[in-house]
Amino acid sequence: MDCSQAKAHLQSYEHADGVAVHELIGSSQNGGLTYNDFLILPGHIHFPAAQVELETHVTKKIALKTPFLSSPMDTVTETKMAITMALLGGMGVIHHNCTAQEQAEMVRQVKMFENGFIPEPVVLSPTHKVADVKKIKAKFGFCGIPITDTGKLHGKLVGIVTARDIQFLDDDETTLKDIMTTDLVVAQNGVTLEEANQILRSSKKGKLPIVDSNGCLVSLLARSDLLKNQSFPLASKVGDSKQLLCAAAIGTRPEDKHRLQLLVDAGLDVVVLDSSQGDSVYQIEMIKYIKSTYNDARPQVIAGNVVTRDQAASLIEAGADGLRVGMGSGSICITQEVMAVGRPQGTAVYQVAEFARKFGVPVIADGGISNVGHIAKALALGASGVMMGSLLAGTSESPGEYFYHEGKRLKKYRGMGSIDAMEKNSAAGDSGSKARYYSESDTIKVAQGVTGAVVDKGSIRKFIPYLQLGLQHSLQDMGVLSVQGLHKQSYNGGLRFEKRSPAAQLEGGVHSLFQYEKRLFA
Ligand code: GDP
Ligand code: GDP
Ligand code: 5GP
Repeated sequence: MDCSQAKAHLQSYEHADGVAVHELIGSSQNGGLTYNDFLILPGHIHFPAAQVELETHVTKKIALKTPFLSSPMDTVTETKMAITMALLGGMGVIHHNCTAQEQAEMVRQVKMFENGFIPEPVVLSPTHKVADVKKIKAKFGFCGIPITDTGKLHGKLVGIVTARDIQFLDDDETTLKDIMTTDLVVAQNGVTLEEANQILRSSKKGKLPIVDSNGCLVSLLARSDLLKNQSFPLASKVGDSKQLLCAAAIGTRPEDKHRLQLLVDAGLDVVVLDSSQGDSVYQIEMIKYIKSTYNDARPQVIAGNVVTRDQAASLIEAGADGLRVGMGSGSICITQEVMAVGRPQGTAVYQVAEFARKFGVPVIADGGISNVGHIAKALALGASGVMMGSLLAGTSESPGEYFYHEGKRLKKYRGMGSIDAMEKNSAAGDSGSKARYYSESDTIKVAQGVTGAVVDKGSIRKFIPYLQLGLQHSLQDMGVLSVQGLHKQSYNGGLRFEKRSPAAQLEGGVHSLFQYEKRLFA
């Protein structure tokens, strides 16, 4: 046959290689499938991997530059993880296995970490002492303090105290009027962020106070924020405030309404309703309460967890802005074993995402992600984001100390339904995992998770960029340029899938070697 006619000849075949996603997962003969049960066939590459766009919506109104979320677990997401996830283009969900005040403080720290104009800067008066500045430094981490005559915002700006003013001072009783800088570079209220940044650059100062026509302080700009903006171009930020996006989890009990109020006061952007079986009257009531109490745009509500279209329909109807999908697929999870309830994650993600997209509700694939391929497959099945626990535990940003066991450097990682996690907070009331997995009337705790350890993975500052680059290469191999393009190709049957047998799965892993070293990135 004429080689130049190979493509034309292909048209005469009745079927393309592989099957469409609905034939793979929609068909009952395949039963429930998960990520390792199938592969995606390669497409045609006509662009470099760097061009692949990973931007994606995780709720109706919030889009991220990368589809990565960290789990609300007390061995995964606290302040440091949430800040770093947001800087790298994802989002951290702060756990609620702590008091409402502790959780709100974590949210506040994430929101304070980076700013455009700082609308409510900490201010002191000329009669305050050096000790007061040191206290602020210890509590908030900064000590660039504008000084006004009243010691309050909107007072007349009379000076500024910065780290250098107090660096070599031994006497904490010195009053600020004796050491503050009074020769100030300021900008007038109404200046744009771009103009103000330019003044900050050319003045070479660390802070730029913004004043009104009477010389009264209205806000502040920090030079360090310009650097953060430069170093983290993908950062997940909120509109004009340039603050990092922050999500936090709560339960669905009456006292969680008070917890939510504290979180919203701290600046929360997304609330995740943390139930292992989300289709309940309690969750539906909570979604309706949030939607009727707060602005429709903030906080956005991610409801769940669900694994069926029926469950999804209940929560979508109640007003959910996003859905979290997964029941029993988590690495630390024993729900399927103990409750006999759950669903293989690939099928759960496809069925829920295919339904929810009709209502413009994005889906987050939660649990069971243990490599880049799983992320790519979750997205190909219709997920708009992936939530990871074990993959991000054991990093320098996850809570907890490293310890050594048989020569390996490890960190603790535990299910929020493990006995260990449920017992943590008896002092804090029925917060967190105790409320998620156990009723107070129960006299025996039934565990739905285990306690374990994972190896040291270093910092997510390297690990997340590795996931991102790996994912770009994966989408390039499929011949798609974006997450949206991936969804489109998957639903229209252009993306082809193939189930793989247990032997094919063995073949797809490393095999037939005497020994090997597996390094994932360098
Ligand atoms: P400083 O020189 O010790 O004030 O600290 P940096 O300028 O290095 O860092 C200040 C960081 O804290 C910036 O990212 C600010 O956006 C953030 N921040 C949040 N609230 C405030 C505030 O009230 N005052 C100051 N100075 N910084 C704040
Ligand atoms: P746009 O979407 O193209 O307008 O770009 P951005 O919103 O990213 O930035 C608008 C202006 O704000 C530019 O001058 C940025 O350098 C600046 N900018 C972005 N993020 C921050 C931040 O966190 N802090 C400060 N001070 N400036 C920022
Ligand atoms: P991983 O990424 O480790 O596979 O899974 C993390 C996910 O497992 C979390 O986001 C959460 O949905 C789920 N999870 C966390 N703790 C428990 C638990 O104790 N039991 C169950 N069933 N699921 C858990």
